[in-house]
Amino acid sequence: MLGMRQGLSLGHYQYQQLEQKQRLTQEQRLDQSQKLGQLLRNASWDLAEAFSDSKYTEHTVCSGCGHYLTRDEIMKGFTIDRTDIRTTCPKCGARPRAYIKNQSRNSATIEIPMYCPNQTLERLPHGGLDKLTPELFKRDYRDVFHSVKIHFGTLAAAYAREGLTYPHVEVLEWKEIVAQFLGNMSDALIADHAGVSTSTIARHRRSLGIKSFRKNVAEGLLERMF
Ligand SMILES: [Zn+2]
Repeated sequence: MLGMRQGLSLGHYQYQQLEQKQRLTQEQRLDQSQKLGQLLRNASWDLAEAFSDSKYTEHTVCSGCGHYLTRDEIMKGFTIDRTDIRTTCPKCGARPRAYIKNQSRNSATIEIPMYCPNQTLERLPHGGLDKLTPELFKRDYRDVFHSVKIHFGTLAAAYAREGLTYPHVEVLEWKEIVAQFLGNMSDALIADHAGVSTSTIARHRRSLGIKSFRKNVAEGLLERMF
């Protein structure tokens, strides 16, 4: 009888330990998925810079308290309302507009409003796409163009989210540019920036003997990036 009780209490203790372990794992999993989200957001900026051969810098100073918002704070401060173009200061709750600076080698640095992915899609012009070349888009919808670059990579990838086909070639050479990113981020994200299909990127990556991003994350090989 005593032995049985001990057995029961030991069982309960083990159960508690197991429960605690599972809870921790769930927290760790949530933590990892947040870190992955952050990693992919930053990866999208890195890809946008590589493909445009320019630098994107977030530049948002809170009008209420002067706090300089980080990239993640800007992204977290956007609401789900597609028409609400302001972000939220995490320090004082004021609603400043977000800006980015784009600095390219051959032209002056420009400062332009930055939209979140949803606001960017909201601002895509929907008509006359056959005549709207990437050059014309950049000239006439400059703010939207740069937000497309940092969030979606190409106009085609952004329009695809809206169920529309963008009929112009945007990227001519991609193999050299994607080399540094293969396996360090998802094939799908790289494909969106390169203007080719995910399977094209996956095939290219495998031909170089590079493991997939998912495999690298699962094996903890990307820990240095977290
Ligand atoms: Zn503030």
